[in-house]
Amino acid sequence: MVLLPPQARVLLKSVFGYDDFRPGQAEIIAAVLHGGPVLAVMPTGSGKSMCYQLPAIMEGALTVVVSPLIALMRDQVQQMRALGIAAATLNSMNGAEENDEARRAMRDGALRLLYVSPERLMMDGLIADVRRAGARRLAIDEAHCVSEWGHDFRPEYREIGRAAEALGDIQAIGLTATADAATREDIARRLFSSPPQLFLHSFDRPNIALNFALKDQPKRQLSHFLEKHKSESGIVYCSSRKRTEDLAYYFQEQGYDALAYHAGMDQAARNRNGDRFLREDAVIAVATIAFGMGVNKPDVRFVAHADMPSSVESYYQEIGRAGRDGLPADTLTLYSLDDMAFLRRRIDEKDVSEERRRIEHDRFSALAMLCETPRCRRQTLLAYFAEEAAPCGCCDVCQGKVAVFDGVIPTQKALSAIYRTGQRFGAGHIADVLRGEATDAVRRHGHDAIKTFGVGKEFSKSQWSSIMRQLFAAGALRTASAEHSPSRDGRSYGRPMGGFALTAKGEKILFGRETIMLRGDPLTRSE
Ligand code: ADP
Ligand code: ZN
Repeated sequence: MVLLPPQARVLLKSVFGYDDFRPGQAEIIAAVLHGGPVLAVMPTGSGKSMCYQLPAIMEGALTVVVSPLIALMRDQVQQMRALGIAAATLNSMNGAEENDEARRAMRDGALRLLYVSPERLMMDGLIADVRRAGARRLAIDEAHCVSEWGHDFRPEYREIGRAAEALGDIQAIGLTATADAATREDIARRLFSSPPQLFLHSFDRPNIALNFALKDQPKRQLSHFLEKHKSESGIVYCSSRKRTEDLAYYFQEQGYDALAYHAGMDQAARNRNGDRFLREDAVIAVATIAFGMGVNKPDVRFVAHADMPSSVESYYQEIGRAGRDGLPADTLTLYSLDDMAFLRRRIDEKDVSEERRRIEHDRFSALAMLCETPRCRRQTLLAYFAEEAAPCGCCDVCQGKVAVFDGVIPTQKALSAIYRTGQRFGAGHIADVLRGEATDAVRRHGHDAIKTFGVGKEFSKSQWSSIMRQLFAAGALRTASAEHSPSRDGRSYGRPMGGFALTAKGEKILFGRETIMLRGDPLTRSE
């Protein structure tokens, strides 16, 4: 195993602003820095680009990035420049001037990242310039495009093999989200002169059982969970320091060896509690998220969330501290309307750009959907990371602990309202239409005159929001560009994520060709 130089983490924070690597990144970056061909297969959105961006910055040498989509290259170049990294692109959409400037910067040794479309590689003596610039490596994004086995074969990708050969001893690394073995072998054969080091990263942690519950009597719910895990080690995450202390005390009274852990404690007490958790058996760390970074205890048997985590990413990271030894581990996440409102408010109060705020709200919505999904938790979680999976059989939904009902009728009402209002309004507006609320916006758009106006009085606004969120999670709705900006009031539970439009699946349900189950619990709870 190759170790990652400490400088990598420092640059991850100082250049990119990230506290930690995403799963898989550290190992891949270590291998990339070590040398030799590397093939990394990771889900979309998992942060593959970092695996060549960070090495390029660390080494201060040129990396040539081959990418199939010009728009994407431009985006990346802009992002890199915004971070102060010298990047440029060469492609057919550039003006001659832009291309010349990129070439000049490269010859001067000023560039760190040069994004090139594959068909450009062998043109205009680029290879000679790349050699002269002392390029370290060729990073091939969407590497599956080189393979006819892949789902997206592009003949121009064949140029890459030729370029790699012409570049001689340059390191080639391939990145893709396509995992099947045939494509992988084909990629290796066509892009690398020797077998690459392969990194296959899936987000699936099949030994971790996923359970969620609406927070009702949290202390009772948590002790019930702990009873199933007597004499095992685990972590209970809380949203505040005070709560870690309250809960630790409560668990101690019940006879558990529970220790509080948060950033407000003095260093000595923190170390003491951290050490005891690591070294001893059956210790429960009742902690804020300050606990966990760098905690590598393989036999953590359970993780509970006394309060809702702030995003799917942090949820995944926190439950991921359980069961590192591969043996069965259990999780329970409590969530509530109050938690949701609190976390939304925290995003609203952040001093960040509107764009950033929108992204954070969307991220949080994905977690809210995971809490309320009528589908297998693992399927829903993995779908977030663009992975497909079969129902896991061991989450609360698979085990029938979550009440579901035939949701065709309310679903058709919602879909019809979305359809008839032009597929560009958010959940709040659609709920108003369904409930027959003639708000200013509803009247202005003439939506009080459509057929679905007032057909859904049986549900409250937030219940309709829950239904739409479930439909989104089930893939019956997608987001369209928003027209009706969501309300920011305290009852932001049903805060829409922008406008909704029907997917192919949504159309099937609307026209009665497919059925759908919905979760009952978010609809029956009191307001
Ligand atoms: P991929 O190419 O695997 O689809 P990207 O490289 O585009 O994914 O990365 C997806 C997103 O993840 C980007 O917004 C990127 O900035 C972000 N990202 C990458 N690494 C990290 C990290 N260590 N922590 C948090 N976010 C990260
Ligand atoms: Zn399941």
